[in-house]
Amino acid sequence: MQISTAENLVARNPATGEIITQVKMTRLEEIKDIYVQSRDAQKVWASKSIKERMESFKRLRLEMVERMEEIAEVISKSTGKVLTEAITADIMPTIDAIMHIEKHSERGLKRKKVKTPLLLIGKKSYVEWMPRGAVLIISPWNYPLNLAMVPVLSALAGGNSVILKPSEVTPLVGEIMGELFRGKGFPSHIVQVVQGGKEIGEALTSASPDYIFFTGSVQTGKKIGEAAARNLIPSTLELGGKDPMIIFEDANLERAAKGAVWGAFTNSGQVCMSTERLYVEQSVYHKFLKLIREEAGRIKQGVSVDDDLGSMTSEAQKEILKVQITEAIHSGAILETGVHPDEWDERLFLPLMILTNVSPEMSIMKEESFGPVLPIMTFETMEEVIELANSTRYGLNASVWSRDLEKAKMAAGRLLSGAVVINDVITSVANHHLPFGGVKESGIGRYHGEQGIQIFCHEKAVLEDSGKRRTEVQWFPYEGKYPLFIKLFKSYFGKRKNYLNFVDAYIRLLRK
Ligand code: NAD
Repeated sequence: MQISTAENLVARNPATGEIITQVKMTRLEEIKDIYVQSRDAQKVWASKSIKERMESFKRLRLEMVERMEEIAEVISKSTGKVLTEAITADIMPTIDAIMHIEKHSERGLKRKKVKTPLLLIGKKSYVEWMPRGAVLIISPWNYPLNLAMVPVLSALAGGNSVILKPSEVTPLVGEIMGELFRGKGFPSHIVQVVQGGKEIGEALTSASPDYIFFTGSVQTGKKIGEAAARNLIPSTLELGGKDPMIIFEDANLERAAKGAVWGAFTNSGQVCMSTERLYVEQSVYHKFLKLIREEAGRIKQGVSVDDDLGSMTSEAQKEILKVQITEAIHSGAILETGVHPDEWDERLFLPLMILTNVSPEMSIMKEESFGPVLPIMTFETMEEVIELANSTRYGLNASVWSRDLEKAKMAAGRLLSGAVVINDVITSVANHHLPFGGVKESGIGRYHGEQGIQIFCHEKAVLEDSGKRRTEVQWFPYEGKYPLFIKLFKSYFGKRKNYLNFVDAYIRLLRK
């Protein structure tokens, strides 16, 4: 296997092993200029109205729709995922997000008038959104288009420039994203794609961007968080998960089995919101296990357009799975479907593995797996399953399955999770009106929707006075004002407001 050199990143199709091309890596010495160019471009872009910015967004969206098949090919070849998953889970949500931003950014960034209390008589107050400047976005390889483009576009909508470091595992997707921002009214250097791995990521992080938006592992997220804190750079961290799926006995079990197989195995389990732990109520366990085994048996793996699942993307991820599954089996877990890691072949196509007889102490139930494995446990009471579901260091997404929607909502309300889906999996991320992000070690901050644009802006409070009055009551001199303030505040904050006393005290204060 050819690996990346000091100058180039090798773009390799993980499903076939074929080397597609090589992509030039950005040199560390270039970073200083990249920031200078980014800050210059930002000034040009920020001077445009939101309407003008959205015209560029529309042109970008239409080009993406036009080139959909070509982009899907690049994603599929770069990640090993099948074309259907490239289009439904990476391209479509990106285009949908662009449309959402086109529709909602003007409202989200509009100056917002807020109330002014009586104590500040005669003044007006409002909130404005000001771009932060040059935003650094670092993205992963599992949905290489969406997880880069959505923050990039949200930052751009707010009037920022962007330095994007896509994953070194999928550099060709990085190249196509750079291309998409050429022309169409985007100033040059408004989005600069920086190709490289960890060293480049570290250098970009310590070069004082005005905001950092990171998507990736908890391990890297902690490093980025530390670096950001050192320079007081605000950041959003979108990190890993170990999402639980809770199936109560009154759930639609056939639907739940299909949902579990899709939730656990789509994109070969390389989804931050994959179903990674399944808890099924004891009374329906055997029935459910039979259903889910049958469902998993129907999944077709391969590279053709009609296949359900492609290959894993990263060799390193295969190793993590090998360790977790071997350890679980060694401690008594039973492999219900799939193949023991000792018998896996060289390829990145892994069998779909369902594990039973697992326990909460096993790493397969505690740590992110990010692969096609689904461990299943049983439970008997709501209390027990909520405690189990909340027992990991993660909290990104979860799902609750029951025909009794009140019960499902009650369970959802008790889950320590950034999102919960009822009688479905993962899909909360596809609604751009909903906030997206994690609790506990799954991350800090939220994006998507109007707030997903606002995070890339400083929230500025403006208080306006007409400037016509001679003075303000709280200004100097203080002589003789103390008892009047007592009267003013007591009439204002007391049990019952006394407007006569308030006006009297206020006028006398003004005359001082
Ligand atoms: P990763 O943390 O290894 O890498 C992510 C990005 O960070 C890559 O671009 C990488 O080059 C860069 N990077 C690595 N070390 C760095 C450093 N020290 N400084 C700066 N940049 C650095 O993650 P990955 O393997 O690419 O992605 C998989 C992980 O991402 C999983 O844990 C998954 O759960 C998580 N993820 C989270 C979300 C989410 O939205 N919460 C979405 C997708 C993936």
